[in-house]
Amino acid sequence: MKVISVVGITKSGKTSVVEALIRGLRKRNHTVGSVKEIHFEGFAIDTEGTNTDRHRKAGAQLVTALGLHETDVLFSEKLGIMQVLSFYGHDYVVLEGVRDIAAPKIVTAHDTKEVDERLDETVFAVSGRIAKELSEYRGLPVVNCLREPERLVDLACEKAFELLPNFDAECCGACGHSCQALCSLILRGEAKREDCPIGSGTVKLSIGGRDVPMVPFVENILKNAVLGVVRELDGYRQDADIRIGIGDVRGR
Ligand code: SF4
Repeated sequence: MKVISVVGITKSGKTSVVEALIRGLRKRNHTVGSVKEIHFEGFAIDTEGTNTDRHRKAGAQLVTALGLHETDVLFSEKLGIMQVLSFYGHDYVVLEGVRDIAAPKIVTAHDTKEVDERLDETVFAVSGRIAKELSEYRGLPVVNCLREPERLVDLACEKAFELLPNFDAECCGACGHSCQALCSLILRGEAKREDCPIGSGTVKLSIGGRDVPMVPFVENILKNAVLGVVRELDGYRQDADIRIGIGDVRGR
């Protein structure tokens, strides 16, 4: 799954850029999901007194509103972006307003001051209102998403890569960098996505059908704990594939 984030101040053109990306990627037959981060303290889709609000207040931890034309699953807490993305299985996910992720970004802005405020090495293009006046800024292309939507989608396809695990810098450095730093090196063509070894090792953990990435340290603890037990069993064979299920394992 490839992820692109569009960041910028309110009314700088973020949603128009997100729309152009979604439309263009769908036109190229990719599956596409999106996430909008809302920085508004009072925001809630569910309003006071609705039946679903009453379910929640009664203590339900996960509430679903099952309508005739849409299904809304309501969590009663803010989830982390990686937890949210674990529900997606699309070719691309376009994020609006999510800054704290090691993924390629487009900055939208009214002027160069706003670009500078959000500029880091994970930014590969600039768009939004500023594109009426500029075509390039600090070596980055400035693309008008209304006049040149296909160019923006070309750029996004060229720059996007499979999502990195987005671990905290102190948790992992197996590639020799942080996730954020590896992201910027990939964008500059100085590293490859394959330089992140997480998920390509010999241990795989899946919970509820979803793969859970582990840093090498945790992967080794899990591997050694399991091997320490199964090595003592009669059926153990060195280098054989080992699978363990926990939960309802009947019929697996
Ligand atoms: S190895 Fe992967 S998960 Fe670890 S810091 Fe590098 S990019 Fe991030």
